[in-house]
Amino acid sequence: MNTRHEPVNGLSVDVEDWFQVGAFETVIDRESWGTLTDRVERNCAEILRLFSEAGVKGTFFTLGWIAERHPEMMRRIAAEGHEIASHGWDHERVFRLGAEGFAQDIARARKAIEDACGVAVKGYRAPSFSIDARTPWAFEVLAEQGYAYSSSVAPIVHDHYGWREAPRFAFHPLAGSDFVEIPVTTAHFAGRRLAAGGGGFFRVLPYGFSRWAIRQVNGEDRRPAVFYFHPWEIDPGQPRVAHAPLRSRLRHYTNLGVMESKLVRLIGDFRWGRMDELAAREAARAEALAA
Ligand SMILES: [Zn+2]
Repeated sequence: MNTRHEPVNGLSVDVEDWFQVGAFETVIDRESWGTLTDRVERNCAEILRLFSEAGVKGTFFTLGWIAERHPEMMRRIAAEGHEIASHGWDHERVFRLGAEGFAQDIARARKAIEDACGVAVKGYRAPSFSIDARTPWAFEVLAEQGYAYSSSVAPIVHDHYGWREAPRFAFHPLAGSDFVEIPVTTAHFAGRRLAAGGGGFFRVLPYGFSRWAIRQVNGEDRRPAVFYFHPWEIDPGQPRVAHAPLRSRLRHYTNLGVMESKLVRLIGDFRWGRMDELAAREAARAEALAA
């Protein structure tokens, strides 16, 4: 692996704390977030160490709520050569916000992030991949606000998210615009599409499944993969939410202790880079095809 002709894949971190995940939203009120134990700072420092040791750069899609409270952390991420992008204000899903609420959400998040780190935000990832068939206005709003790309679509069916009809690889959703959407990686297996770019697929299943999926994308499809994970996924010491539904707890707490060693393998087995650079290459490729 790591040969020169293989595509450079997109490496991304969705920066949110353990209490902000979709799995716990029914049991942890947004109002209480400010009172809960902060783990994101410690976990991001660990991710920066890991990336630095491996010599890779990536993109940190950060909640505005987090950026506002951690300006020093944001400046450090940017100073180490990583891209800072937006994950929205407080993890509300796009299809729940509506067009106007969405415009306000991403403007507020962007201001908080840019104020914190002093670097312009060009990329966006929707909370829980919530740009789908219900949000035909979302890309237009992003382009209007000057975003260059989004990585917010999961082209699959899943119990929490998914837009089955969306393309598997980068596409221009707006006619006459360079704006590009880069969906999260899927693999095909036994006639089905699987979300293979992170989440439970990576953390819960043996590492070999992810290696197989990314090899399929890089090799058979000859396209870059997009991978994501969260700071809380490398943190076995995070506070436990005892009153959450069993299914949510299973999904959240499985294999936290082995995540870091899996990540090290993944980073070593493939080529990785920032999402903005991937977006620029994908936009150029789409133009070349259209010409
Ligand atoms: Zn998220």
